[in-house]
Amino acid sequence: MEVLQPTSWGEALAAKGEYPEAVPLAGGTDLLVELNFDRRRPETIIDLTRVAELSEWSRVDGEVRLGAGVTYTRVISELTSELPGLAIASRTVGSPQIRNRGTIGGNLGSSSPAGDALPPLMASGARIELAATNGTRVVPVDEFCTSPKHNVLAPNELIAAIHVPAASGPQQFSKIGTRNAMVIAVASFALSLDPSARSVGTGIGSAGPVPLRAIEAERFLNGVLDEEGLWASRGPLSEASVTRFGQLASEAARPIDDVRGSAAYRRHALAVMAERTLAWAWGEYRGVA
Ligand SMILES: Cc1cc2nc3c(=O)[nH]c(=O)nc-3n(C[C@H](O)[C@H](O)[C@H](O)COP(=O)(O)OP(=O)(O)OC[C@H]3O[C@@H](n4cnc5c(N)ncnc54)[C@H](O)[C@@H]3O)c2cc1C
Repeated sequence: MEVLQPTSWGEALAAKGEYPEAVPLAGGTDLLVELNFDRRRPETIIDLTRVAELSEWSRVDGEVRLGAGVTYTRVISELTSELPGLAIASRTVGSPQIRNRGTIGGNLGSSSPAGDALPPLMASGARIELAATNGTRVVPVDEFCTSPKHNVLAPNELIAAIHVPAASGPQQFSKIGTRNAMVIAVASFALSLDPSARSVGTGIGSAGPVPLRAIEAERFLNGVLDEEGLWASRGPLSEASVTRFGQLASEAARPIDDVRGSAAYRRHALAVMAERTLAWAWGEYRGVA
C-alpha cells in the first residue's frame, strides 16, 4: 500500500487528481477500523493529517467555515457558542480518544446514516465545500449523502470545509443508544431555532438510508410560531403543538429493523426526542430553561 503525505492543500488536491482511487485519511477512526478488519484494501492512501489548512476554522459573514480536519474535541472546546448543536452532538461521539482524532470531515466522508455530526449540520442548513484541482463547489448538506456510505464526492474531489451558519438561537441534539457512551445511535434528532430568520431546522439520524430533515415538522412549527406571534412574545408552546411536532418528525423517518433497534422503536424514539428537544430549546428561548 502506498501512503502519500501531502503537506499543503494544493499538494493534497494534486495527489487526489493524480490518484482518483486513493482513499483520504483524516483521524483514521473509521478508515483504520476498515483496514484492520480487511473490509477495504486501497492501493493508495492520502494522509491529510499534515495539511494544516484542513484543521483551521474561521468566521466568515455570520458563518463558521470549519476545515474538514477539525476534530470533535475542538468543536466542543472552541465552538460551543457559535455551533451549540454540533458541540452537543460532538460530546456524544465515542470516547475522548475518538473525539481527539475523529473529524467532522471524516464523519461526512463516511456518510453513515448514524454519523452524529450530520443531524445538527442538517438542522443548521450547513453547506459542504468540495474541492478539486480544477475548482470548488458547494453542496447543501442534505444533498451530500446519497445512500448508506455513499455521497456526491467525485473521485478527484476532497472535502475542504463545512460552512455552518452561526447559531442565532437555541440548538439541541438528542441521541438514543443501547448505553450512554461509546455507542452508535439507534436514532438521533437535532433541532435548531433561528430567531433572526424566524425559522426552524431539523435533522434525523440513524432512521433512514441517509440523514433526513423532518420538513413537514419544520413547516408545522414555523406556522405555529408565526401565526401565534411566538417569536416576538416568547410565549409558551401548547402541548398539542409539541406533540404534533413530535408526530411529524417521527413520520419523516424511513427507518428499518436491524440489530440495534426496530423501525417501530425508532419512530417512537424520534417522536419523544423531537418533543424533548423542542421543549428544551423553546424553554431556553423563553429564558425559562
Ligand atoms: C470506538 C469508536 C467509537 C465511535 N463512536 C462514534 C460516535 O459515537 N458517533 C459517530 O458519529 N461516529 C463514531 N465513530 C466513527 C468515527 O469516529 C467518526 O465517523 C469520525 O468522524 C470519523 O472521522 P475521522 O477523521 O477519523 O475519519 P477517517 O477514518 O480518517 O475517514 C473516514 C472517511 O472519510 C473520508 N475522508 C476523511 N477526510 C476526508 C476529506 N477531507 N475529503 C474526503 N474524504 C475524506 C475517508 O476517506 C474515509 O472514507 C466511532 C469510531 C470508533 C472507532
